[in-house]
This record gives sequence, C-alpha cells and structure tokens, in this order.
Amino acid sequence: MSIRQNIINWLYPPRCIFCDIVMPYTTLFCVCDECNSAIPYASRDYCCDGCGLPLLEDDVGGMCKSCRVLSRMTERGEPCKRILRNYGACVYDFYPKAVVLGLKFRHRADYASTMGLMIAANLRREEYDCVVCVPSTLQRIQKRGYNPAEMIAREVAKYLGLEYINEIVIAKAEVEQKQAASRQERYDLVRDAFEMAEGKRVQRVIERKLKGKNVLLIDDVYTTGATMNSVARVLIDSGVKDVTGATFAVTPLKDN
Ligand SMILES: [Zn+2]
Ligand SMILES: [Zn+2]
Repeated sequence: MSIRQNIINWLYPPRCIFCDIVMPYTTLFCVCDECNSAIPYASRDYCCDGCGLPLLEDDVGGMCKSCRVLSRMTERGEPCKRILRNYGACVYDFYPKAVVLGLKFRHRADYASTMGLMIAANLRREEYDCVVCVPSTLQRIQKRGYNPAEMIAREVAKYLGLEYINEIVIAKAEVEQKQAASRQERYDLVRDAFEMAEGKRVQRVIERKLKGKNVLLIDDVYTTGATMNSVARVLIDSGVKDVTGATFAVTPLKDN
C-alpha cells in the first residue's frame, strides 16, 4: 500500500462494505470476519455453468433451471446466449443488494475495490486477454459522475493484472426499467441497446487487442443475462473470440 493510501486510510478508515464496521486501516479486502462467514458466496466449483448461481440438488447437467431455458432461446434465428458463462461472486440477497445500491445511488465509490477483489478471487487470469465493462448511457454517467460497472471492472483488471479497455462498446439509449419484465421482455428491450464505438482509436483497439481474443465482461449484477448477452453480441460481431461474464452478484430467478 502506498504512503498516500496509508494516510487516506488513516484519515478515513476502511469500513466493511456489508455492515459498515471500521476495519484496520491497512485492510484492502473490506469484509469483516462476521460478514465473511455470513455472505452467500458463489463458489466456482459448485455453481451453474450458465449464470454462476450455486446449484440446487435437482439441477441437472451442471445448469440451473433458468439457464436451461435460456440455452434454448433464440432471437432472429440466433441463440440469445452469447457469453460462454457468467461467474458471480455472491448471491444477490439483502446485503449484496445494499452494497450494489450503495455504489450506484449513494456515491459509495469506495465499495468498488472490494467488489472487484471478490470478483477477481473467483477467476483465473490466464483464461482472459483483457477486461471490458457493460457500458452506461452518457446521461446516466453525467448524472452519477461515474459508471459503477466501470469502477468495478478497473479493479478486477488491476487485481488480475489484465488490461482494462474503456469506451469500446457504447449504450445507445436509456433502456426502460421494467421491474416485472419477463426474461423474453428483457431480451427484447436490450436487443439493440448497444453498439461498437466509432473512430480510429476503436478500430486500432479492435485490430490489436480484441480480434480473436478472450474478453472478460464485467457488470454489477447478473439477472436474466439480457444485458450481458447483448453487449457480448456486439463484441463477438466485431471479431472477439469468446466473452465470459463476471459480476459481483447473481440473482436467483424464478422460471419466467
Ligand atoms: Zn461486516
Ligand atoms: Zn444458471
């Protein structure tokens, strides 16, 4: 830890992202022992090959019910599922939800470092060439001051020692937030929500760093996978070989 970071931590002690208890000022992983044993982590070994949720006893073939439905869904004659799979650090229940909402709506940008560390701990560096995040619209970034997914993605890249590539896919317009939207509705809503950015820089990045490469795509929460698969489609259409998703949390879905 740098001297500057030490001073910052001394003045503003790190706090557990789940319960806000003050942690020792040299702490990088801001999860206290009590929360660490209570948080519903998703383990890489016992989770769904699709979304990353811990598997239930009646889940067959290494996939949860929801991902089995998704693997049969198509749009315009092509499969909806474009990412190889998603890895989630934890299940999206009460405490992880408070952390995600804190980062998004209460300006708790300090959560991003521990969230990134939790995601990175679930991954193997050698499987990926670079890190990209799910983009946010310009209006939202201007309103919030930052894109939460980008903040997490930069931390994941740092911990894995991979390059983070920014502003390569852009969000075209705000997608209507429908709380009760079914999976099919979510896929229809975000189908054309993203596109590749334009310009010489982007072309250079595509040629040198994305074509034929394995990209790690970061977002805060995986729910139906609609957003992630839509971004993955744009990347794959530009020549990326494979896209793997990684999120801080995964939402258990009822089959819809
Ligand atoms: Zn705690
Ligand atoms: Zn699943």
